[in-house]
Amino acid sequence: MQSLFPEKNSVQNTIYDEELLALRGKGFREAGVSYIEDMLKSGRREKLLLHSCCAPCSSACLEYLSLFFDITDFFYNPNISDKSEYKKRAEELERLITCYNYETEGKTTALSGHPREADGLKGERLKAIEFVEGEYEPGAFLEAVRGFEKEPEGGRRCIRCFRLRLYKTAEYAAANGFDCFTTTLTISPMKNAALLNHLGQEAALEYGVRFLPSDFKKKDGYKRSIELSTAYGLYRQDFCGCAFSKAEREKKKNER
Ligand code: SF4
Repeated sequence: MQSLFPEKNSVQNTIYDEELLALRGKGFREAGVSYIEDMLKSGRREKLLLHSCCAPCSSACLEYLSLFFDITDFFYNPNISDKSEYKKRAEELERLITCYNYETEGKTTALSGHPREADGLKGERLKAIEFVEGEYEPGAFLEAVRGFEKEPEGGRRCIRCFRLRLYKTAEYAAANGFDCFTTTLTISPMKNAALLNHLGQEAALEYGVRFLPSDFKKKDGYKRSIELSTAYGLYRQDFCGCAFSKAEREKKKNER
């Protein structure tokens, strides 16, 4: 099993990184739909731990997944550049979940009465979505990406960032009796869904808990997240999360 924090610059890890970066998103959404179909056929309703990066990305994922799973939303994002940005994203996500839970109780919210019919599967939100905030441990992130700070967004720094967050999610899922886990990160057109699914499977094997494959951006999933973000007036940050991505964004802005 690949170590969570591989030794930087080793030949073996360089090859591993290149292989991971070469992965392309294909068929992961379909694999996730098959997982749900099997679950529905067997009459199970599983407990899913959903790793969430922010409210806008979570909006469409939660709307879809909560029709089929009992969800606990897990905000574990030590990559976020500073405490105030971290707090803002965590609080906005909690606010969105409160809105969704009001809908579940039949109270009115921005999009009440318009659940997204997905993939022809019939589901219903039966339970309130729970929210768990992981520890904010920026030191763990800096340790994980040490030596890769100057990589561009989408490069080897991100592999380590994804791995850190997915492993923590798998660990929490296994320790707290969840059937499976997944992440909202695949909704972003900026992120490599194949890489995320590969790392998710790796974490699942490590901790002995199932991983739900996904590519949430497909079938207008990303578009839906924009619609929901507008409807609920969600705070949408303009950089991925870490200080390095923030600096990259500032540089691009200044070059315009
Ligand atoms: S750019 Fe985003 S995914 Fe990549 S290391 Fe920074 S926060 Fe993580």
